[in-house]
Amino acid sequence: MAVPKRKVSPSRAGMRRSHQALTAAAHMECSNCGELKRPHHICSHCGHYDGREVMAADKAKGVVRV
Ligand SMILES: [Zn+2]
Repeated sequence: MAVPKRKVSPSRAGMRRSHQALTAAAHMECSNCGELKRPHHICSHCGHYDGREVMAADKAKGVVRV
């Protein structure tokens, strides 16, 4: 079985893990109601997308979570 020649130093492990940090999910304001929504997604609050209602507001609630 292959064995690592050296233990990865805490500094090196930290440098590697700095690239694995989770970033916050992108949000933008809905142009219709102003609620935060995910870009390129139907607004979960009012069901609008690209300036028109594409889904009833109550129906859109379960589809997209912000
Ligand atoms: Zn909206």
